[in-house]
Amino acid sequence: MNDRAFYGQLADLHMHTHLCAHAEGEPKDYAKRAVALGLGELGISEHAPMPSGYDALRLAEDRLPDYLAMVEAARRVAPQLPIRLGVEAEYCRGQEDYVRRFLARADWDYVIGSVHYLEMWNFDDPKEIPAWRAIRDLFGTWRDYFSLWKEAARTKLYDTLGHPDLVKKFGFFPKEPCEALFEDALRTVAEAGCCLEINTAGLRKPVKEIYPSSAFLRIARRLDIPITFGSDAHAPHEVGVGFREAVALARECGYAEYARFEKRKRMMRPLP
Ligand code: ZN
Ligand code: FE
Ligand code: FE
Ligand code: ZN
Repeated sequence: MNDRAFYGQLADLHMHTHLCAHAEGEPKDYAKRAVALGLGELGISEHAPMPSGYDALRLAEDRLPDYLAMVEAARRVAPQLPIRLGVEAEYCRGQEDYVRRFLARADWDYVIGSVHYLEMWNFDDPKEIPAWRAIRDLFGTWRDYFSLWKEAARTKLYDTLGHPDLVKKFGFFPKEPCEALFEDALRTVAEAGCCLEINTAGLRKPVKEIYPSSAFLRIARRLDIPITFGSDAHAPHEVGVGFREAVALARECGYAEYARFEKRKRMMRPLP
């Protein structure tokens, strides 16, 4: 299948803009790239605001109107491309009400739920690699991550959970087998009726692997958890990057379809 036919059957639902201060471009720039690729659908998913105490590399509360206007502008630039309004919201224990209040301020097509913090530790920041090196009990850290991830699913605030095994980002893997940990976490996601994301950004990180691993995704498939796709683009040229590998991984794990959203209603589509 040629690239345009391949991309035409896919939706990339994870990308950022300059509004988070660590990505470049506006939704219209991502839309232009998507049109050039022949992508079937694009979803913009800026990092949602958080209260003070968390990193500020995210949308500021008072810039939500600008974000909404930029997504509208992208729709005008690429009228032939369905562009969904999404957001990547944190799950941090104790901040559920803050997140809920923020989410009530717009009419989202979908919400990605992500865990980037273990309590107040921003474990996916490259500055934290020395702290990772100092961890004696990696399995304990992974267990803490997945217990937060389960709590995220239980809130039902999110339509899909972003980069499911982000905890592997810098390649610090526990020696212990993790299948039981994955299965326990994924059972909660299945019960909550949430999707999980195949996120290709891991290919560009030290771990050099898609999130999640095939061991993880096989269990998700067995539990019938739907998948979404996201490049987690932080620049327009990253739209759709790694999607051949992502679809191959999904197929290998037994998937034949994936999810898209409109006004938080899930629609399934066949994989290319
Ligand atoms: Zn980001
Ligand atoms: Fe993220
Ligand atoms: Fe992201
Ligand atoms: Zn992300």
